[in-house]
Amino acid sequence: MSILVFSEDRELAYQLLAKASELAEKMSKKVYCLASETPEDYIKQGADKVLQSELGDFALESYRAALLKAVEASDAELILMGATKRGKELAPRIAAALNAGCMTECNKVDYIDGEVVIERLTYGGSTIAKETSTSKPTIITAAPRSFDKLEPQDKTGEVIKLEFEASEPKVKVLETREKPKGTQDLENADIIVSAGRGFKAKEDLAILEELAEALGGAAIGCTRPISADLGWMDDWVGISGKKVKPSLYMTCGVSGQIQHVAGIRDSKIIVSINNDEGAGIHGVSDYSIVGDIYEVLPALIKALKEKA
Ligand SMILES: Cc1cc2nc3c(=O)[nH]c(=O)nc-3n(C[C@H](O)[C@H](O)[C@H](O)COP(=O)(O)OP(=O)(O)OC[C@H]3O[C@@H](n4cnc5c(N)ncnc54)[C@H](O)[C@@H]3O)c2cc1C
Repeated sequence: MSILVFSEDRELAYQLLAKASELAEKMSKKVYCLASETPEDYIKQGADKVLQSELGDFALESYRAALLKAVEASDAELILMGATKRGKELAPRIAAALNAGCMTECNKVDYIDGEVVIERLTYGGSTIAKETSTSKPTIITAAPRSFDKLEPQDKTGEVIKLEFEASEPKVKVLETREKPKGTQDLENADIIVSAGRGFKAKEDLAILEELAEALGGAAIGCTRPISADLGWMDDWVGISGKKVKPSLYMTCGVSGQIQHVAGIRDSKIIVSINNDEGAGIHGVSDYSIVGDIYEVLPALIKALKEKA
């Protein structure tokens, strides 16, 4: 019996390997990983054995076949998968094929009293569900950055070639187009300043850009209405947007609805500016300024510039 890790997103696979290594120690299991290239890197990130297979470009049927072979080869009782767009398609198919329990988009995974116990946000992020699976194997998916990857370890492991029979795809890709990249790498940013509907016009976001610069090059994020409704920015932060983990997250004119807060919970320090004393964002902030962003931000920028 073992723990098997798979994500087609390498960084996410490393993050899952860190969690798998932690669980493996508690469960006295080996950690397997399915990968196609540079298996030694997966070993350095915590895998004991890498099942190396020529996966090629993503095709649901082929990846499903490879993963099922990997489950068989590793005799996995726990399968950790990335909750990427592709992982979300793959995990339920693996669960159906194995008649296995599948717990999706988990934020926490632990081994307590002989059970794998997870936590996941439910009801749009307003509640946390604690679950355990009653079947084996168990499949768990986790979104990027739910766990931190390990520092590369000086570790040896085994690389096992894994053959599988690729089946004919049932969906044919007619065309792929490069998605225009958002200018902000929110998921990896150390400081984020974020705009909410407290901003009255798109041009006013220039103040936020100035603040970002005064903070030494912070990334700029926003709430969903600013992006999805008004189209002022590409990506938003929150449960249906990007999940962020900066040292400093600064909200400006953001009310603090649970769907936004669900994406910023892991920030080290949250600072908020909102002119409504009763706004929910104050309750989740480490520092709050009750004030008008149009007055507070220029003063803050001036102070930061003077300090610099
Ligand atoms: C299924 C679902 C998923 C969702 N996912 C997300 C998500 O991932 N991310 C997300 O952000 N939202 C999401 N939402 C939307 C979410 O519920 C809120 O509507 C949204 O977060 C509110 O955005 P806001 O704070 O910018 O706007 P508002 O709620 O309108 O708040 C604006 C705030 O600005 C303050 N303000 C106004 N003027 C000023 C001023 N001059 N100075 C200072 N403060 C001022 C007000 O007091 C108010 O608190 C989702 C909704 C649903 C239904």
